[in-house]
Amino acid sequence: MGSVLQLKPALTDQMDGEVMSIKIYNSMTKKKHEFKPIKEGHVSMYVCGPTVYDFLHVGNFRGAIFFNVVRNWFEKNNYEVKYIYNYTDVDDKIINRANEVGTTPKELAEKYIAEFEKDYATLRLRPHTKNPRVTEHMADIINMVSSLIEKGKAYAPGNGDVYFDVQEFPDYGQLSNKNIDELESGVRIEANELKKHPSDFALWKSAKEGEPSWTSPWGEGRPGWHIECSVMAKEMLGETIDIHGGGLDLVFPHHENEIAQSEACSGKSYVNYWMHNNMLEFGQQKMSKSLGNVKTGRSFLEEYNGEVLKFLNLSSHYRSIIDFSDKQIERAISSLAKFYSSLKWAQDLIGHDLSLAPVPDSFQQQVDEASHGFEASMNEDFNTADALSKFFELMRAFNNLTRKPGKVKPEQKAVAEVYLHWIKDRGNILALFQENPAEYLQILDDMLLRQKGLNREDINQLVASRKKARENKDYAKSDEIRDQLASMGVLVMDSAEGSVWEVDKS
Ligand SMILES: [Zn+2]
Repeated sequence: MGSVLQLKPALTDQMDGEVMSIKIYNSMTKKKHEFKPIKEGHVSMYVCGPTVYDFLHVGNFRGAIFFNVVRNWFEKNNYEVKYIYNYTDVDDKIINRANEVGTTPKELAEKYIAEFEKDYATLRLRPHTKNPRVTEHMADIINMVSSLIEKGKAYAPGNGDVYFDVQEFPDYGQLSNKNIDELESGVRIEANELKKHPSDFALWKSAKEGEPSWTSPWGEGRPGWHIECSVMAKEMLGETIDIHGGGLDLVFPHHENEIAQSEACSGKSYVNYWMHNNMLEFGQQKMSKSLGNVKTGRSFLEEYNGEVLKFLNLSSHYRSIIDFSDKQIERAISSLAKFYSSLKWAQDLIGHDLSLAPVPDSFQQQVDEASHGFEASMNEDFNTADALSKFFELMRAFNNLTRKPGKVKPEQKAVAEVYLHWIKDRGNILALFQENPAEYLQILDDMLLRQKGLNREDINQLVASRKKARENKDYAKSDEIRDQLASMGVLVMDSAEGSVWEVDKS
């Protein structure tokens, strides 16, 4: 028999002694491999952050939400994690946008870094180890570009630009499975007479009139996009890093170019595990400006909230496309509502003044199975969708044991304590289920009511008139109102303390 006072090892906050390996799908090899760190007990992780020229679209938050989980899971497994997430604060998009709105690129970037950090805090994701910015690393960037020229891997054609010479890097195309000959015949690559090969890319660009610029050996200019990540990863984490992450749309050319720059410079392997999160769609349509279906993270957070966004993201495996259709959003809200309803129930049970009782073996067994299942899912390439299913299995077991009419039994309180602890502890890794159950259930219920075109006041009025009917012993009327509420999707529960209602989540 388990006891409520002495939690079993599976419920404590450290993982138990059994060492299980974490498997990662490496985009480079297209296979899953057991994770082996460069330095025992440490993980170095670099994830490409946003270009800060506007509010980010909702899809940009997928990486932020997912890689937060990756970091948490490594830490739960006793690794020390350094997690770098950069801000691109020099870029064509920033310059163009600043000109459009009549501000400086610096001010524009500052504004949208602050807006991103506001959304990040709303999502209650943990701060990164560092958020380096391109403008803080100009000297390092100029050093790496110079070093690539010295090594014969880059050239300055004399117009103030510097290009990487892809023909001097035989492995070019290894991540995206492209080869230089194919790229040469590709029609999408712009011809440029100064380039030796159409795939050569700019490491440094000469300044144009009115653009921000820095002094370099090649004249006034600014860095190309790709070089910044190679430089910042090296400065903060070293020449070879454990994990590099980002969206699937960054594989080519951005990550391909990062590999070329870093490896040509150091002569060492740049990244041991490449991880890429997939994109999202809106009802089977890609999000794009031309389709007019671009939704910012901010507008999503205002219309729904952070918990819904995190839940939607983590309900799918990070390598599959997520559908952000209205139907999927509704489904996520009602799943969350079901879940928070069980958490509120658990909290209510814990509030009862009852004697201590042991947790029934059958429930303890389900808890152990959930623990094992959660761990196995997370170790299998961070399968958060599977990991979340363990929460719902345990929720059903908890509901079956405790949500019964009649007097509350001491063992139900014990079950509630173990359940709530498990959910909070595992939920914390996913950055989910940490809201106050009673308060948050109200917020979810309001969202569900809004979807049904109902509001809280109308329901309270109906519940009050039913109460009056009951006091007058008019049971026919009372039943009629109950049926009316049920047809609206609202359940009324009567107890000794009075009647409460909630939105039907079945
Ligand atoms: Zn990058």
